[in-house]
Amino acid sequence: AVRVRIAPSPTGEPHVGTAYIALFNYLFAKKHGGTFILRIEDTDATRSTPEFEQKVLDALKWCGLEWSEGPDVGGPYGPYRQSDRKDIYLDYVRQIEKNGHGFRCFCTPERLEKMREAQRAAGKQPKYDGHCLTLSAEEVTRRVDAGEPHVVRMKIPTEGSCKFTDGVYGDVEIPWDSVDMQVLLKADGMPTYHMANVVDDYLMKITHVARGEEWLASVPKHILIYQYLGLTPPVFMHLSLMRNADKSKLSKRKNPTSISYYSALGYLPEALMNFLGLFFIQIAEGEELMTMAELAEKFDPDNLSKSGAIFDIQKLDWLNGRWIREKLSDDEFLGRVLAWASENDRLKQGLKLSQSRISKLGELPALADFLLKSDLGLEPAAFAKIKSSPEELVEIFNTVQPDLEKILEWNKETIEAELRAIADRMGKKLKVVLAPLFVAVSGSSRSLPLFDSMELLGRSVVRQRLKVAGQ
Ligand code: ATP
Ligand code: GLU
Repeated sequence: AVRVRIAPSPTGEPHVGTAYIALFNYLFAKKHGGTFILRIEDTDATRSTPEFEQKVLDALKWCGLEWSEGPDVGGPYGPYRQSDRKDIYLDYVRQIEKNGHGFRCFCTPERLEKMREAQRAAGKQPKYDGHCLTLSAEEVTRRVDAGEPHVVRMKIPTEGSCKFTDGVYGDVEIPWDSVDMQVLLKADGMPTYHMANVVDDYLMKITHVARGEEWLASVPKHILIYQYLGLTPPVFMHLSLMRNADKSKLSKRKNPTSISYYSALGYLPEALMNFLGLFFIQIAEGEELMTMAELAEKFDPDNLSKSGAIFDIQKLDWLNGRWIREKLSDDEFLGRVLAWASENDRLKQGLKLSQSRISKLGELPALADFLLKSDLGLEPAAFAKIKSSPEELVEIFNTVQPDLEKILEWNKETIEAELRAIADRMGKKLKVVLAPLFVAVSGSSRSLPLFDSMELLGRSVVRQRLKVAGQ
């Protein structure tokens, strides 16, 4: 029976790309009467958090993508969170070593960095040079017994190429000399993504692995791990990434990509799924409006495009409008609006900030509406009241926008600290720098506190608004 999974890493705000891949797997399971499962891939302990895990579960539930097995609902092949499966992987790593396909590597991070630098300088793609492959068994034992930190790497064939058939890309051939001797077990005893992913797909009886195109180059490593363990790999399907109209990858550094952004702005989950689902089916014009059941029926995994799924926000807006107007009854619409408002964290935070600034509740919409719009549509006249010259305004926007990228953790304290530092560097008074930002970010100079608003809107929206203002 078909078993597919979505395997998010809880390392950031749930990504609309995760919803896209999850939807494909969900529809694939529906189409084949199979099972859709959710597995949390949190082997990167430094970046994964329980809060992000909860957010991923909530976001995928909001999308209407229900899973039959997962960390919250359990199932016959649990646990479904990799950090709870640490001991399982160790046995498989040892088996690979025992069969002579793995080796211990004692290279220090400093040595590896030097090696990579030299390779980059020579115009080569950095790759482990096999330094520890030649250690004698005695030396390895001695160094392990002495407690020297080390990792386990996999051996890679020295010639030929890995050939496989991808469900989307067709026949693929990747030369082994382009494949790195991947670390399987890290020095802290945690498996890497590659190791854990393969073992879990095997143990969870996954039949089809559908994931983003960025993993295509990892398939040779995965196939080799299956081989080293004497296992049969699943079918691989690599989905083309979603792209902007200019073909650049939709990414959190460039676009608003968090699912919560779309829910906060009032996109209906049905419309978002409808929009993403259209990437996986062929339809005639006029048939675009589809429910999940209709998507499942028309779902066509054999005719996927390799050229990239263009994330056309206007089409999403159009579909969302149609869902609101054509698919909801009056009562449903009212219910949705009220539920949206009461569950909307961004709105709630905005309302809290508004309390000290209004004398009647009716003033709220005008005060907080900038939090709920994707685009403010500002005209140059919006900046007319600001004392700076047009040249100074451009200078401020063009300095602030790249400098804000230096902030590691985006919150009102770090934003304030960076803006103060920017004003110092520019030799300007803080308020001279903040006044135009106020307008660019909130659309008005009488609005909610700037640093809070910037935190609430998130980095990508602020970046976008400053860019527009600087033009
Ligand atoms: P970056 O800013 O580094 O490009 P990102 O936007 O790619 O980040 P990740 O955290 O790397 O975000 O990805 C989160 C998940 O979303 C991954 O499972 C990835 O496959 C998926 N994903 C990211 N970008 C896209 C995209 N453009 N199309 C489809 N899926 C995507
Ligand atoms: N944890 C990986 C990701 O978030 C999963 C990749 C896969 O599906 O194998 O992209």
